[in-house]
Amino acid sequence: MTRFAGKSVIITGSSSGIGRATAVLFAKNGAQVTITGRNAEKLEATKKKLLKVVKTPDSVNVVVANLTDAQGQDQIIQSAVKKFGKIDILINNAGANVVDGTVNTDQSIDLYHKTFQINFQAVVEMVKKTKKYLIESKGEIVNVSSIAAGPQAVSMSPYYAAAKAALNQYTRCVALDLIKQGVRVNSVSPGIIATNFMGAMGVPEQAQKKIVNLFASEKGCIPAGVPGKPEDIAELIVFLSDRKRSFYIVGQSIVADGGTSLISPMESQNLEDVMEL
Ligand code: NDP
Repeated sequence: MTRFAGKSVIITGSSSGIGRATAVLFAKNGAQVTITGRNAEKLEATKKKLLKVVKTPDSVNVVVANLTDAQGQDQIIQSAVKKFGKIDILINNAGANVVDGTVNTDQSIDLYHKTFQINFQAVVEMVKKTKKYLIESKGEIVNVSSIAAGPQAVSMSPYYAAAKAALNQYTRCVALDLIKQGVRVNSVSPGIIATNFMGAMGVPEQAQKKIVNLFASEKGCIPAGVPGKPEDIAELIVFLSDRKRSFYIVGQSIVADGGTSLISPMESQNLEDVMEL
């Protein structure tokens, strides 16, 4: 497939989950892909998947780096430019619900900084640092947000939810600014997707399965009845990165959540049972 032939794409957080599936889909469609994350072993596993679908190993670039570190960001960008000569598409996907045992309004200030650093500040810094390349290539940015951005509250993780809400507004502001220079910016807001997201929070695998199954079986949690797959979100990210298919979408956050964000408290009750009484 040649849909993205000759396009240089950076996908942050591609050692796992949504980022990995997105990297595979871009590679299948002919892109030159820079994959990155902190975990070298997991990145190697993504690389193996990519090598199965690319025409030449030269179109895969692996950078082990911490995105919350300025040097790490520079390393990713410089490596992509050195290897592929340009940047056409930036996917700001890396993110995490960072935990330290504190919840709700008791969440620590240290946690606040860490949560905003990876989910918001790193995106801002990557956009600032790649801007000149993206203007040159008339490129695209897709940020990965979350339905946690609202309008419903996520009382256990206020900083994560607030960081994603900030990301949505940042997406709109930057989109309006950069479209004047030919760069399109959008974001996606996934619902519950089966990835290592809860694993990264320290939730054991069995408990993760239980939680996801509970959500899927509850009418009020996932109306579609199943959790999303990383590939479902990858399809949306790739669509928003494809100017031929989505050129008129600018500054939007597109929700893909199996209907989760549509549910109001009234909808989640079985009123038919009550009416029969
Ligand atoms: P995963 O935990 O599977 O993947 C997260 C990725 O982010 C990993 O590749 C991880 O790489 C990377 N990452 C985290 N912190 C850093 C860091 N400091 N520096 C570099 N890379 C980092 O989760 P998902 O695939 O689910 O998450 C992808 C995005 O989707 C996130 O932004 C998340 O907030 C969002 N999302 C996920 C939902 C879900 O239900 N899964 C729902 C809504 C939004 P490494 O560990 O190698 O550093």
